[in-house]
Amino acid sequence: LARSCRQAPQATAIRYLREPSSCGAPEDISFGRLLERIHQTANLVRGEGLGAGDVVSLLLPNTPQAQYALWGGQAAAVVNPINWMLEAEAIAAIVRAAGARMLMAYGGDPEIEIWDKVLRVAELCPQLRTIVRLGGDRSGAAPAGRRFLDYDAVIDGYRGDALDFERAILPDDLASLFPTGGTTGAPKLVRHSHWNEVASAWLSAAVAGIVEGESRLSATPLYHVVGAFAGSLATLARGGTLVLATSVGWKHPKLLPQIWQVVEACRVNYLTIVPTIMNQLVQMPIGAHDISCVKGVLSGSAPLSENVARRFLAMTGLAVREGYGLTETTSVCMMNPKDGEVKTGSVGLLFPYHRARVVALDRREGLRDCAPGEAGVLALSGPTVFSSYASGGQAGFLEPGWLDTGDLARIDEDGYIWITGRTKDLIIRSGHNIDPKAVEEAFYRHPQVLEAAVVARPDSYAGEVPVAYVQLVEGARIDAAQLLAEVRPGISERAAVPKDCYIMAGLPKSPVGKILKNRLREDATLRGF
Ligand code: ATP
Repeated sequence: LARSCRQAPQATAIRYLREPSSCGAPEDISFGRLLERIHQTANLVRGEGLGAGDVVSLLLPNTPQAQYALWGGQAAAVVNPINWMLEAEAIAAIVRAAGARMLMAYGGDPEIEIWDKVLRVAELCPQLRTIVRLGGDRSGAAPAGRRFLDYDAVIDGYRGDALDFERAILPDDLASLFPTGGTTGAPKLVRHSHWNEVASAWLSAAVAGIVEGESRLSATPLYHVVGAFAGSLATLARGGTLVLATSVGWKHPKLLPQIWQVVEACRVNYLTIVPTIMNQLVQMPIGAHDISCVKGVLSGSAPLSENVARRFLAMTGLAVREGYGLTETTSVCMMNPKDGEVKTGSVGLLFPYHRARVVALDRREGLRDCAPGEAGVLALSGPTVFSSYASGGQAGFLEPGWLDTGDLARIDEDGYIWITGRTKDLIIRSGHNIDPKAVEEAFYRHPQVLEAAVVARPDSYAGEVPVAYVQLVEGARIDAAQLLAEVRPGISERAAVPKDCYIMAGLPKSPVGKILKNRLREDATLRGF
């Protein structure tokens, strides 16, 4: 990153849209300015007495300041980005688990209110010594009994042309502690080394194909590894421009309706999105917008419906390149190639220097490698794979060096990987393994379906039965029984036909937009009684 900053200091590193509707007048931050702010932030962190191994928690939406804190914070210490949409108690639990001594948080604005949570977190986390208010409207009051800094007021007082301390960063040094998405349970804190991050960003940039001077709109939050590494670091380290919008997000009403306008005005070359955004994009006409600047659309972090990807291709002429990764692989570690076949429905080819195995747990033989093409549990090894959770232990590994992804997959004859579900989401009906993704796909083919999720409901006779939860497109007029009847012929296996279908106003989602199947399972269990 420092190299790109020095190579072309005048070039635009970040194009920031405080309000997407103001895309005619974005705030541009040059690489020179970015490096200066990174140095100043690192010097501030160091000035507060933090060094290698000490942790700074970050509670920041997508702003340029979040970039300064992410990269400056880890030049001096270790960063711990946290989802600011969580409740204060959940944030405090992560801050405590990380052992953070400093908290950098967004100063707040009428739409993104973070400061009340900061005050509560300070009460719950006595080990936090310094609280830094960063950006926003700067209205948040100083927490009682803590050292408090207003970033915008003090930052110019720190040296910006270099670090004012000596630090030789070694590849295995701890750089960040990212919490997992919390989709299947409480978030786990993942330890990433500097080497993990560098490998992730370089491989991601190389495979995504972004080059100097190109730009990327990353519609994913910076507290998530996809936004931080595949989105930001991969773009900036290659000399590309990162288009950032604070109010980005799958449920934010502001960006989505404006997205094609933003793409056209900012001449966006690559879009990184999550499937739930894609589900909505295919409902939104492009109108008169010229989006010929777009060279690639990348989707990851949750399963993308093949049918939705095909509709997007028909609408835009762009084949969505799906990728896959976990917090434990420091972001994306496989992707459909830029120069090669895009296989819709597959998550593409493994990044260089990585290895994948598909394994089954055999009661007698233990771990067994599956036959080519057979589905089983996906295990991964490579430079982006984390070493351990902050809570310690070898949890998460099937064997030393082999990460247990918890996902089910098969690898085809060309080496493309197909994710068929999560082990926890597998439905077993009278001994038949049912792949929920295939059933969901049948729903996505129905024109009145916006989103669908199929989960297990306990059943006294069959053990489990599949049930479907569906959100319809706006203005749809169909009831659950009729929908199920129309979808049924598209489901090849009889056992996979959902026993019931429930139409919902919206499906429960995590802040990054993943459908929370554990909540649906709970709901299904209650309905089953
Ligand atoms: P937690 O581990 O706390 O339950 P989480 O699994 O959402 O939460 P992440 O590390 O953010 O935590 O997500 C990784 C998971 O996301 C993968 O294990 C996989 O299930 C899912 N995933 C990511 N990309 C894809 C994809 N392209 N297709 C299908 N699933 C995907």
